[in-house]
Amino acid sequence: MSEIKRNPPWDYDEIILALDFYFEHSPSIPDKQSSEVAELSSTLRKLAKRLGNAVSGDYRNPNGVYMKLMNFKSLDPAYDGAGLASASAKDREVFEAYGDDLKSLREAAAAIYDGAMSDEPIAVTDEPDDLDHEAVEGKLLIRTHRTRERNVGIINKKKEAVRKATGKLACEACGFDYEEKYGERGRSFIECHHTVPVSQLRPGQKTKLSDLVVLCANCHRMVHRGKHWLSIDELQEVVLG
Ligand SMILES: [Zn+2]
Ligand SMILES: [Zn+2]
Repeated sequence: MSEIKRNPPWDYDEIILALDFYFEHSPSIPDKQSSEVAELSSTLRKLAKRLGNAVSGDYRNPNGVYMKLMNFKSLDPAYDGAGLASASAKDREVFEAYGDDLKSLREAAAAIYDGAMSDEPIAVTDEPDDLDHEAVEGKLLIRTHRTRERNVGIINKKKEAVRKATGKLACEACGFDYEEKYGERGRSFIECHHTVPVSQLRPGQKTKLSDLVVLCANCHRMVHRGKHWLSIDELQEVVLG
């Protein structure tokens, strides 16, 4: 039995790059044979390789990329959607997140583009919780975020600074203190969260101590649960009510 291999569905980061291209050129989208579409195709292939995906010869080729661009028309109020191919649920989500905020779309697309072109090491796999609740910014920026907040050197410096300033190592949102609860076993345990919005992450940036907050594992999970991560102010509002 012959097997037809289909290219995998588009991911958030890919859709963000394509949607940014769409708005940059709309209403006159360059045609399939244009150098612009070829360039977008090659960026998408680099991004996929960066994420460790298998990239077949026709992966995100200009034909497929052009079709995706046409799908956006069905979501764009500037067009009468009649007769246009329908967009996917993820296309719709990205369109809804960014369609009326082109500045943020530009920023996210630029961060993804820079990340795709970079060779800074990033985490190879997603966390299990990311698979259920993938943020709308897409895998590449999330992995960059994870990698930065697990940099042991800077984490240890942050812990030291917090201990010096407060005399303990308690969650900055809910106050949970591992050592107080678990004794010796909990000593020095706390997680760090990187507060810089993922769309502002660029390859090679140095993490500053002020970019990090210390959070207990529960609070940290809650920040990352859901498509839109909580800011520390939002988290505190939830926790303290
Ligand atoms: Zn907490
Ligand atoms: Zn985090």
